[in-house]
Amino acid sequence: MKTPFVTKAQLEKIVAQYPTPFHLYDEKGIRENARRLKAAFSWNPGYREYFAVKATPTPAILKILQEEGCGCDCSSLTELLMAGRCNISGENIMFSSNNTPAEEFQLADKLGAIINLDDLTLVDFLEQSIGRIPEKICCRYNPGGVFTLGETREGFQVMDNPGDAKYGMTRAQIAEAYTRLAAMGAKEFGIHAFLASNTISNEYYPTLARILFQLAVDLKHETGCHITFINLSGGIGIPYRPEQPDNDIAIIGEGVRKAYEEILVPAGMDDVSLYTELGRFMLAPYGHLVTRATHEKHIYKEYIGVDACACNLMRPAMYGAYHHITVMGKEDQSCDHKYDIAGGLCENNDKFAVDRMLPKIDIGDLLVIHDTGAHGFSMGYNYNGKLRSAEILLKEDGSTELIRRAETVEDYFQTLVW
Ligand SMILES: *Cc1c(COP(=O)(O)O)cnc(C)c1O
Repeated sequence: MKTPFVTKAQLEKIVAQYPTPFHLYDEKGIRENARRLKAAFSWNPGYREYFAVKATPTPAILKILQEEGCGCDCSSLTELLMAGRCNISGENIMFSSNNTPAEEFQLADKLGAIINLDDLTLVDFLEQSIGRIPEKICCRYNPGGVFTLGETREGFQVMDNPGDAKYGMTRAQIAEAYTRLAAMGAKEFGIHAFLASNTISNEYYPTLARILFQLAVDLKHETGCHITFINLSGGIGIPYRPEQPDNDIAIIGEGVRKAYEEILVPAGMDDVSLYTELGRFMLAPYGHLVTRATHEKHIYKEYIGVDACACNLMRPAMYGAYHHITVMGKEDQSCDHKYDIAGGLCENNDKFAVDRMLPKIDIGDLLVIHDTGAHGFSMGYNYNGKLRSAEILLKEDGSTELIRRAETVEDYFQTLVW
C-alpha cells in the first residue's frame, strides 16, 4: 500500500493557501533517503552523489541535497547557471551532456565542473572550446548490445538497449579518447556509463560496477592512464506500483563494495572514488502532484476530470507510466469504481490513469498523484496554453514554503511578439 506523506487535514490547510494543482515535496523524506544513500557508500572515502538536476531543477531542492553532501549533475547551460547561483561549483558539479555547444563547455570549465565527454569527437571540440584539456576528465562508455540482469526478482525484468542509445563511446573509442586526452594534458581519468533506467533490482549497480571496474583495469593497462573515479550515473528506480518491491540501497552499496574488493583492489586501484548521479531515486517518492476533481463525465467510460493535466506530469501520457493515486480521506473505502482520470488537454493521452479502480470520487475531492518528485514538474510543458504549477516544500517542522510560484499568463506572454 502506498500512503501519502501528508494527511488530509494537512493538505486542506495547504490548499487553502495555494490553489491546486501543485507539486508538493517532502523535505524529511528527501533528507532521510539522501542519508541512507550516503551511508550505503560510506565505505568508499571519495564517494559522492551528484544529483541529476534535470529530475527536479528547483534551487530549494538542490540546496537541501547540497546540505546532505550531494553535488549536482548538470546537462545544459541553464542547469549549470542554476548550480552556480546555488553556490555549487568546482568538483561538486559533473557536466554530463550530449550534442554539447561550445558555450556550455566554457561555462562548465569556468565553474570548475568535472566534464564528462559523450563522444570521441568532443576531445578536439573541448580543446577548441576552452583552449586546453582539463587535468581531470571523464568519458562516457556505451558497451552496445542489450543489457540484462541475470538475477532479477520474479516478474520485474531489467532489460535495456545500450546498442540503440545515442550516448557514450564504444570500447575502442574510449581507449583512444584516453590516450589522446593524456597526450593533451589530462592527468586524472573517470569512466561513466548509464545502461538501464528505473531499475527495480538490487543487482543493477553491482552488475554495472563489475563491467566498469573491469573496463577500468583494462584501460589502465592499455593506456597507462590514472583512473581516479568511476561514475555509476543514474538508473536506480523506485516502485511506482504498490505491489513492486523497493530497492534496498544498503544491499546495493554492499554489492558494489564486493565488486570493488574483487576487481579494483587486486589491480592496485583502491584509490578509485565512486560517484553516482541519481535523480529518480533521490526525489521521485518525495513528491506528490496535488490536484482536485473538478468534473465527472459518463459516456462509454467513466471519467473524472481534474485540474492538473499532462503538462504538470508527462510520464503517463509519454510512456504510459503508472502513477499511484490516493483519493484523500477515502483511503479506507473500497476501490469499487473504475475511472479514467483525465486532464483538460485536447489530446486523448492526457490521462493520469486508465481503467483505475478507485473509491467513488466526488467533485471537490483532493487527489494525490504519487512519485512525482523526479521527472515530474521538470518535464512540464505549455501545450494548450497551460501554465506551469507552483512547487511547495513541506518542511520538516510541518510548515510549508513556496519554492516556485505558479506561472502566470503574463509569464507566458512575455516571449511573444505582438
Ligand atoms: C537522466 C540522467 C541521470 C538520472 O537518471 P535517473 O533515472 O533519474 O536516476 C543521471 N545521469 C545522466 C547522464 C542522465 O541523463
